[in-house]
Amino acid sequence: MICVYPDFYRAFACKASFCRHSCCRGWEIDVDEESAAYYRALPGKLGDDLRAALVEEAGVWHFRLTDDERCPFLRSDGLCRLIRELGEQALCDICALHPRFYGELGSFEFCGLGLSCEKVCELLLESSAPLRFQLDDKAELLDFAGLLCRMGLEPVAELLQFTPKPGEARYAEILRRLSETEPIDENWTEEIRQLRSVLTDLVENAVEYAAVCDRGRYDRIYQYILFRQLERAGEYEFPALAVYARLSTEFVFLQDALLGADPEHLRRWSEQIEYSTENVDRLLSI
Ligand code: SF4
Repeated sequence: MICVYPDFYRAFACKASFCRHSCCRGWEIDVDEESAAYYRALPGKLGDDLRAALVEEAGVWHFRLTDDERCPFLRSDGLCRLIRELGEQALCDICALHPRFYGELGSFEFCGLGLSCEKVCELLLESSAPLRFQLDDKAELLDFAGLLCRMGLEPVAELLQFTPKPGEARYAEILRRLSETEPIDENWTEEIRQLRSVLTDLVENAVEYAAVCDRGRYDRIYQYILFRQLERAGEYEFPALAVYARLSTEFVFLQDALLGADPEHLRRWSEQIEYSTENVDRLLSI
């Protein structure tokens, strides 16, 4: 396999207690069988707490979240009790892996970092230079067109970059499509409702913003969203994947135009869409 990494992959380091949107809140984490067995056999107070927190449902173990939806091992200072008391090697597979993702197509393995993590959004957006990709540990870096060529896909010029297309009909359609995705929480539904209520303002702001914004920022967002879906290029035509990435980038763009450029708009979109296969499929099925 040829492993493909975005150029910022190796710069990732978890923000731990400095993270405002910790992945240790709000998500119910499945614990792999081997880790569950290790936790259940641990002696002492930590072992007792692990046994009390572990729940098995339909043969799958997970930690019961606290009433305010936190992992029971997330300390009040934002650090992980398991890491502090046992070391990183004690983490279950999902906690050790997150926010990394892996996908395969043919002889390529795409190794990336998920955008629901605020640190990943910051890394992607700290530069507006063209996104580049490293193959295995080779020194050569490919741009997005180069990566597609290497994969045997045709890099059609208009599908390589993001061009904003503000318009009431288009923005109404984007917001309608997103309103039909399964909401991650009540706030998502309300956020979309509010955006739909200011459609005219959205378009006016987007027209003005398109004239002055840093286009490189949105090319990076667009190409990275596409990169995550490249594993599905055998299932969907590349232009269909590009439509998905374009719609998603335009959604981030229109919020930046209205509220000011903020990595949180991208992170929030990712949390809602990219972490639900069902929601990605809904947006892919035009
Ligand atoms: S969201 Fe990212 S930065 Fe925040 S705690 Fe999780 S891995 Fe660390």
